[in-house]
Amino acid sequence: MKNRRMFSKVLVLLIVTLGFTACENESLNNESINTTDKTQVAFDHEQDDMGCIVSQEEPLTPSDYEGSITLGNEIKIPQTIENMQRAWEKLRDRGLYPEVENPVKVNRLYVRFLPKSQNQVLELSRYDKALDLFGFPLHYEFESITDENDSYRDRTLPLETPNPFYTVVNHDYIFPSSIPYEIIEELYMPDEDRTIPPDLADNLELVAENIAEGKSTDELSKTSKKWRPEGRIRVVDHAQGEPTDGMAVPVKGVQVMARRGLKWSWGITDEYGVFRVKKDFKKEVNYSLRWSNHEWYIIKGSSVTRAWYFGPKKEGEWDSLIDGSIQSYYAQIHRGAYHSYYGENYGITRPMHNKPGNDRMWIRAHKKASILGYVAHFYENVPHAISVFAKAKGGEWLYGENFDENHHILYSSLMHEFGHASQRNLFYMDNQLKWKNLDRIVGESWATGIAVELIKEVYPNYHSYFLDWSECAYVDNPYYTSYVVKDLIHPNGNDDGFDPNNPQYEANLVEFTLKEIEDVMGHTWSEWRENLKQGLPKAKADNVQDRFDYWITVCD
Ligand SMILES: [Zn+2]
Repeated sequence: MKNRRMFSKVLVLLIVTLGFTACENESLNNESINTTDKTQVAFDHEQDDMGCIVSQEEPLTPSDYEGSITLGNEIKIPQTIENMQRAWEKLRDRGLYPEVENPVKVNRLYVRFLPKSQNQVLELSRYDKALDLFGFPLHYEFESITDENDSYRDRTLPLETPNPFYTVVNHDYIFPSSIPYEIIEELYMPDEDRTIPPDLADNLELVAENIAEGKSTDELSKTSKKWRPEGRIRVVDHAQGEPTDGMAVPVKGVQVMARRGLKWSWGITDEYGVFRVKKDFKKEVNYSLRWSNHEWYIIKGSSVTRAWYFGPKKEGEWDSLIDGSIQSYYAQIHRGAYHSYYGENYGITRPMHNKPGNDRMWIRAHKKASILGYVAHFYENVPHAISVFAKAKGGEWLYGENFDENHHILYSSLMHEFGHASQRNLFYMDNQLKWKNLDRIVGESWATGIAVELIKEVYPNYHSYFLDWSECAYVDNPYYTSYVVKDLIHPNGNDDGFDPNNPQYEANLVEFTLKEIEDVMGHTWSEWRENLKQGLPKAKADNVQDRFDYWITVCD
């Protein structure tokens, strides 16, 4: 108990000093912010309307491109037609494969797309959802890599112009008609040619690589062992007061890539954070981790640049323990997103899946403060976006300059925003008008309720801290202080007894599940309340009424 009280004190202090629980505006003092007219409109909109559900995106700034790797030497591509042709001749000169016809032909293309705008980036990802798009060239070495290197930016491009996307496609790929592209090199990739013996593919690959690098071509694949890249991805949790504080926790469901030049293969981490890619390699590979998957992108701030973790170039396993740096930020965001889409959510509606007619969620990880004054928000237009901010409006770091503090608060903020995403999906399936006319206090109460409930198994002490919450935290923004949902699920709070002077009252407490509360979701406060009261005995219905009345007046 003592610990919890201590914990609460620390937390209240945090809330007071930094001014956040989930996505609420910090006190919206317009004068203190350097606003343009455009921003001012947004402020007015936010004040009157939907809370941390926003319909304006934060502006792009040069700081959104911080963290770019520097390109080193150009890699000579082994799989050019010329190199492969020469490799084939070398093998024939040695009398090998007399029965096989010359297999060298164009079977792949190394290309880059040149989208001119965010819309074209979207168009491209909608055109071919399976295409691996790399925002960095594959035929360059990277200069020494640090954890802060999370992307590549071609700084000769204007601020608003997206990076080119590099990839390798089939030789007969049908390109989208509206997006400019360039073929950098025609390729023969022997390991993609199913018509030749595997050992021939290995030998062609090896000899061509040696030709490209200007080395001796005597070596054959028998003397060079193949190996399968694998490893483990974990992050140190920095969640003060929680059982996992200071511990290494696995990063589950993350896509890890092993790449050697233009050849790559993916693995996905399991519940222990362990991965193994699907192809064998010879010699060393570049390990990297893509903080995106089929359902979402983690994006750098307001740009369209996807966040990566560029790991080591090596032969052998990659056992990565992320501790601090921007990568801790991404890892925690990934954990929250993974939980929202695939983890325990007690049967409520998931955020919208990436399916025809809908895009991936854009999770914008900002290193700066929100100009709208939030610590996180949900962008309601398509493509939907969740923004999290590393700094409070006054410039204080919310999660530490090195992203090694308050991980539980970051997680909880994410669950709140994904709560909005989940409700948006609920109303898509049900009635879009309901979303448009959603009462601000209903939206915020539900998102807050989801966050409190979903963090239960991840951060039990933070969950339990909220169960005792009964105060008005934001006089100016009572929408955010409604904890009606946790009262309906956990009427006894932390078993401290709700009202010791009135045992009869306690006997009549309602106890719903999260799913039951969602099932009767209304778009107005009174509709939701009345739906919940339906069919209950009077005393219990009165209890529902009492909780709704309490939370709508707590800040009066
Ligand atoms: Zn919210």
